[in-house]
Amino acid sequence: MSKKPSKKEEAPAEAPKIEEKKEEAKPQKAEKPKREKKKKQEKGVHAMYKIEGEKATRLRPTCERCGPGYFMGDHKNRYTCGHCGFTRYKTH
Ligand SMILES: [Zn+2]
Repeated sequence: MSKKPSKKEEAPAEAPKIEEKKEEAKPQKAEKPKREKKKKQEKGVHAMYKIEGEKATRLRPTCERCGPGYFMGDHKNRYTCGHCGFTRYKTH
């Protein structure tokens, strides 16, 4: 019976990496998965009104310059009119 000397596990010597420059332009033939049509959230004028019963309340202020019908964008501290650029700061 011969005793086998415990084998030392040597870490594999790292082979010098040869940088391969592969710049093959592969033509992408993979078909893009068709996007599922998402139900568009209604935007526009309908989103500006909140209908409560028979009353339609405007959720956004209208532009003073452009008149009713021109809604202003709701910002953190101000409203702006995308039509004429009028800005009104929130007072409260
Ligand atoms: Zn305006």
